[in-house]
Order: sequence, then C-alpha cells, then structure tokens
Amino acid sequence: VTEDELIARIRRLATSRTRGLELGIGDDCAIFRPSAREELVFTTDLFLEDIHFRLAESDAAALGRRALARSLSDIAAMGARPRFFLFSLALSPRTDAGWVEKFYRGALALAKSVKVALAGGDLSHSGRVVCDVMVCGSVARGKALRRDGARPDDVIYVSGPLGGWQHRGEIEPRLELGRRLVGKATAAIDISDGLSTDLRRLCVASGVAAELDRPLPVVEGASLDEALHAGEDYELLYTAGRHVPGIPIGRIVRGRRGKITFMGLNVPPRGYDHLRHR
Ligand SMILES: [Mg+2]
Repeated sequence: VTEDELIARIRRLATSRTRGLELGIGDDCAIFRPSAREELVFTTDLFLEDIHFRLAESDAAALGRRALARSLSDIAAMGARPRFFLFSLALSPRTDAGWVEKFYRGALALAKSVKVALAGGDLSHSGRVVCDVMVCGSVARGKALRRDGARPDDVIYVSGPLGGWQHRGEIEPRLELGRRLVGKATAAIDISDGLSTDLRRLCVASGVAAELDRPLPVVEGASLDEALHAGEDYELLYTAGRHVPGIPIGRIVRGRRGKITFMGLNVPPRGYDHLRHR
C-alpha cells in the first residue's frame, strides 16, 4: 500500500466527530472553533519503542490504545473533556502497513469509546517506532484542575491502586472521574512517573508538603516500593478540602515545599526520570 492509501484507510476508521471541528483529516491543518464558554487544554506525549514499550512483547492494537490512553490521562487530570487528537507515527523497519493499521485500530477503538475525534497527524519512518499523540480537551472557563491549588489540611486521594505498568493490564484514563472533580478538587495530576515524583510535583506547584499517613492501595502482585515509585499507573492523584470520590491516602500540610513523608519516613522522589534513566 502507498502512504495515501494507508491514510485513506485510517480516515475511514476514524468515525468519531466532535462539535467545533470544522475541518478534520485531509487538509494541511485541522480547523477547530471553540465556544465562548469553554477553554481549551492541550497535551502531547511521546511513546517510543524501547523506552516505553518493546515491539516484540506487545500487540499493535494494544500499543495504539496505550499511546492514546497516556495522553487522555493528562486530559482527565485537568478535569477536561477530550475533543480531538493529532496522532503522529514513525514506522520502523520491523513494522509494516498492516502493523500500522492495527496500531491505529487500537487507538481509534478507544477514541470512539470516549468520543474524541482524530483530526490529523503525520506518518513517517525511523530506526525505531516513534509515536506522538497530541490531545485537545475543553473545560468550562476557569474550571480546569491544576497542580497548584492544594492547601494545608486538604485530603490527598488516588483514584485506584498503584504499582506500576508491569503489574497492570491496560491504562484506563480516568476521564469521567476527572470531570466529576471539577469544582470539588483543589489540585490534580495524573500518576505517570510514580507517586513519589508526581505528588512532589503537585506539592512543589502548590507550595506545600504532604504526609501519607494511611495504607497505600497496592495493585495485586506489586510491592509497596513499586506503589510509591513505579511509573505508568495513570491513576489520578488529587486533593480536596471536602469529601470527594476516591481513596484517601494522606493530607497536605504546611512545611518544606515538596517534602513528602510516608508513615513518618521521608520519601525522596524516586519515580521515573528520563534524564536519570537514559
Ligand atoms: Mg500528566
């Protein structure tokens, strides 16, 4: 197949529509017309062979789904509704048109289930598979859940058990929960690099410290250390001054900005760091 034939196939698979998307795949740019009441949030995430996944270990459709799910998790963490996404992919010598179609099918099945439209992207080739997923979401003006709103005495919650990618089956972006937390949570982030690292980010942004003083919910088969530090959980981590849905794990306190303790012991940020782990 040629590149244009492959793009035509992908275009036929992309059935989700979104209000405001005036022009989608097929021109030089997509055109999106937002309403006056909303604001738009944007995120982009790289998904790289041998960094985030191994080609031999994974099914193409599962990988495509995961590539989109990672970016949708960021949209969930803002309390936003995903509207459209741009999906760019570089094939490697070990992947072919059939693999690409399966990869897209996996992503587009998830896109359909959460009603986000594919608005464009790019196809190229490289020594290894490179995928970049840009998602645009929308949220009512001024209502996005940010990292910098946590206040002393807020309770810290997670949306589910932690333990890292190797103990989980699939990523379930917490979009519905994120939207329910709008107007209720004071701050939110998704756990992509590990609880210790992402909670520290939230605390640093908010100028506060955190005490984890309750048992951590741990994914079956994972250790406490993995629940604290392993990456790619994609659960939401958020704070609230009143009761909200989720699993309470501690509270926000005054103290050295970004300091985290678990049962009284200091917890350094030992989650995933692309500069340390290369
Ligand atoms: Mg994130």
